[in-house]
Amino acid sequence: MAKFCAMFSGSSGNCAYVEAGGSSLLIDAGVSARSICKALESIGSEIGNVAAILVTHEHSDHIKGLKALLSKYKIPVYANSGTIEGILQSIDVGSEFLNELKTGGSVEIAGMCVSSFCTSHDSRESVGYRIHTPDGKRISVATDLGYISDTVMTGISDCDIVMIESNHDVGMLQNGRYPYYLKRRILSKTGHLSNEDCSTVLPKLCSSGARHFVLAHLSRDNNFPELALETAVSAMKISGIPSGDYEIEVAPRSGPEHVLTL
Ligand SMILES: [Zn+2]
Ligand SMILES: [Zn+2]
Repeated sequence: MAKFCAMFSGSSGNCAYVEAGGSSLLIDAGVSARSICKALESIGSEIGNVAAILVTHEHSDHIKGLKALLSKYKIPVYANSGTIEGILQSIDVGSEFLNELKTGGSVEIAGMCVSSFCTSHDSRESVGYRIHTPDGKRISVATDLGYISDTVMTGISDCDIVMIESNHDVGMLQNGRYPYYLKRRILSKTGHLSNEDCSTVLPKLCSSGARHFVLAHLSRDNNFPELALETAVSAMKISGIPSGDYEIEVAPRSGPEHVLTL
């Protein structure tokens, strides 16, 4: 049995949870260690079960809780060399906790096979992750990306659960109050994925076997959960995918709401 929970998602902090075979992994630790521990307890887990933390990139909304988690619980962290450099520059943690997982490489952690794939984002070397559990379940996570490259598509295809960014509605962003440079940054190929771009790949992923979709990293200012959801569901409808073939949820901003069990 495998479990997945998007515990925190968005620019205020990101942390997702994967459990299989009695062990668990965190993907990013972008909120306080105390919030992460509380969230784990609320879903019936605990920080002592966390075998490793996989970090996607060094932006603070993905590593804010790392220092306290490492000093208190000494949990191994996996990231590529670019992200490790970024972590070491921004927070004071011992490099002995930081293990390199090359982009595109794989490692086995607590019986789970973890591999990473390159994403296009304005950090040093951002990645998404794909996890195969011991009982053959496949989970992938791709947030903080300007567009979906072929590499990303391969990384997230053929999975049971896909957590994918649905950051903004393009119209809301363009007409919103953000300064021009920031709009350009978000809309660029190294920015964030729009509802529209996210929704175009969902039918393909569903055809490749995905049943559970978690829309993630929603902008507080340029999106609404209902709008992200509606855009995704419409794309499925237009592609003729029956509504019983999939489930879509929106990742919560500030604490676990739903644990997916496979
Ligand atoms: Zn982020
Ligand atoms: Zn980022």
